[in-house]
Amino acid sequence: MKRSFKYRVYPMRVQERWLYAELKHQKRLYNYMLQMRNQMWEYGSVSVSMYDQINHLKKLRENNSHYSKHPQDMQVSTIKRVNAAKAHFFRRCKGKEKKKGHPRYKSSVRSVTWCLRKIKGVRQNPICETGKRHNMLKVPKLGEVKIRQHRRFIGDPREVTLKKTARGWYCFIVCEVPDTLKCVPKSACGVDVGTHDFLTTSEGEKVENPRFYRQAERKLVRLQRDLSRKEYRSKRWYKTKDGLAKQADIVACQRLDFIAKTAYNLFHHKGFDVVVVEKLKPSNMVKNRYLAKSISDVAWGMFFEWLEWVAKRDGKHFHKVDPAHTSKTCSNCCQRVNGKMSLSVRTFECKHCGLILDRDHNAAVNILHRAACALRGEVWDTILYETRNPLLKQACWG
Ligand SMILES: [Zn+2]
Repeated sequence: MKRSFKYRVYPMRVQERWLYAELKHQKRLYNYMLQMRNQMWEYGSVSVSMYDQINHLKKLRENNSHYSKHPQDMQVSTIKRVNAAKAHFFRRCKGKEKKKGHPRYKSSVRSVTWCLRKIKGVRQNPICETGKRHNMLKVPKLGEVKIRQHRRFIGDPREVTLKKTARGWYCFIVCEVPDTLKCVPKSACGVDVGTHDFLTTSEGEKVENPRFYRQAERKLVRLQRDLSRKEYRSKRWYKTKDGLAKQADIVACQRLDFIAKTAYNLFHHKGFDVVVVEKLKPSNMVKNRYLAKSISDVAWGMFFEWLEWVAKRDGKHFHKVDPAHTSKTCSNCCQRVNGKMSLSVRTFECKHCGLILDRDHNAAVNILHRAACALRGEVWDTILYETRNPLLKQACWG
């Protein structure tokens, strides 16, 4: 399993200038390698592999100081990126997706990556310990850059990425960590996500929706308006553009922080070993123009990714079930409500058995229930909600 650790990096002015030049060089190399692959195929029907390009790069470095003055490991990573872009394109061609999406030429590159080699059987350590507030990150051909290592990385470091974002430079150290064994599940919970409340568990607990975008919307609107009033590509235009990017970055970081903490909370503080959610497709749901902003703001897709990741990392279980009619079905007697159920109706009332329950709570129980049906035979289905609720078991299983 791979884990990446993110740290803030503080390059000096001179180093920053070097890094910008490096990003520019990697962009050109990327476009050159992509063009080579495209044209060789178009005019000569020759397919160029990643290894051909790496060999080609070696020759270029021997003859041309323009190439040899840049770190080879970064250049090789760029070639790998081209290869990955092409591989994804071929995957899409084979699949059912309508848009094949040719890899595009880049107008800018925001990050550089290099691998950490083994020297005499010992892996290079990218960090120099100083014993002070900042440690030093070793960057090939540049030297040492200040890094705020707020926590130690675990495992065997394989790769380092330096990235420029709106609010500064960041470093990602990718480490190889041994896989965690899956635990024996003892408790499970179904989770219903929504725009009203961020989530409701099958135990009836709710987490409020923080609506980060809505909170920052007025600021963003003001900045966007300011930007539109500046002369295009003037100094002030760039300044406002940076301010806007920073504000957007803040919103994205707030969202990430909240989602990561909520996912961790479910597994560790609440103590659930299994979490079940609906298999939603937010990209399709966003097509509803009345809900698009709210759906984009809650970022369910990101939340599910984090749940999956935390489960994988800590040996927990995560499942997705079919989302059809979870809100409209009674969790007690399994009868479905006919017709549409408006989003403004917050309470579920069953005409058949008289159950009155919060709408999302009812859906969350249904989700958990559905997972139990689909995954019958796994250990945890016997300790589910249904066994705690004899009436439910009777109604469903006869
Ligand atoms: Zn009912």
